Amino acid sequence: MRLRNIPRADSVLNECKEVVKNGAEYRGRWREVFGNSNPVHIEIGMGKGQFLLTLAKQNPKINYIGIERYSSVLLRAVEKLQNDSEIPLSNIRFICMDARSVADVFAFGEINCIYLNFSDPWPKARHAPRRLTSREFLSRYHKLLASDGVIEFKTDNRLLFDFSVAEVNASSEFDLVGSTYDLHHDIEMNQGNIMTEYEEKFSALGNPIYKLIASPKD
Ligand code: SAM
Repeated sequence: MRLRNIPRADSVLNECKEVVKNGAEYRGRWREVFGNSNPVHIEIGMGKGQFLLTLAKQNPKINYIGIERYSSVLLRAVEKLQNDSEIPLSNIRFICMDARSVADVFAFGEINCIYLNFSDPWPKARHAPRRLTSREFLSRYHKLLASDGVIEFKTDNRLLFDFSVAEVNASSEFDLVGSTYDLHHDIEMNQGNIMTEYEEKFSALGNPIYKLIASPKD
C-alpha cells in the first residue's frame, strides 16, 4: 500500500507521542518505554492500523508496536488512534521504518509475537528476498523473538502463502506449528481472529484467507 505523499504526514508524526522517532535507541529497553514488563507484540507492514488498534483495546496487558514503511500510511493509523479510540491507549507505539532493520531496533528475546498481515507479494522471483516471509526476513525475526514466541502470517495470496510455508519448512530456525487454507471456516484457527483492512476487503470478494503460525525451533 502506498498512498500519495501527504505533506503534513511528517509533522503530524513528529508531534505524536506514540510515534517512536529513533527506534534503535530503545533496543533492549522497550519494557522501559511502556513502563511495564508486559509482553511486546509487533505488526510489520501495519498499514492503516485497524488490526493493531483493535488488539491494543482488547488486551491492555500486552504492548503493541506497529511498524510501517510509509509516513503517509502511518498517518492514517495515528489519526485513527487520535479520533476513534474511546479511551486513551497506553499500550501502543508506532515506528516508521523499513522492516529490514528490525534487528537493529529489538534485542534478542524482546518480542513475543510478530504479526504479518497481507504482506506485499513481490511476485518477481528476483524480489523474493523482499517478501516479509522470505528466509532473509525469517533470520531477522529469529534475532528478536523470545524462544516461546510466534510469527502469525495471513494472506489471500496463494503463491505468497505457498512460498511462505516452504520458507518456514526449509528454515533451520523455525517450525511450522499451524496452517490453514480457509481461516474463516477453520473453527480452531479462527478463534479470536481480528480482521485487517485487507482481510475485510478480500474476504468480501469471496477469497479464502490463508494463515500460518511459526515458532522458533527448540
Ligand atoms: N497489514 C495491513 C492489512 O492487512 O490491511 C496492510 C497490508 S498492505 C498490503 C502492506 C503494508 O506493508 C503496506 O502498508 C506497506 O507499506 C507495508 N510494508 C511493506 N513492506 C514493508 C517493509 N519492508 N517495512 C515496513 N512496512 C512494509
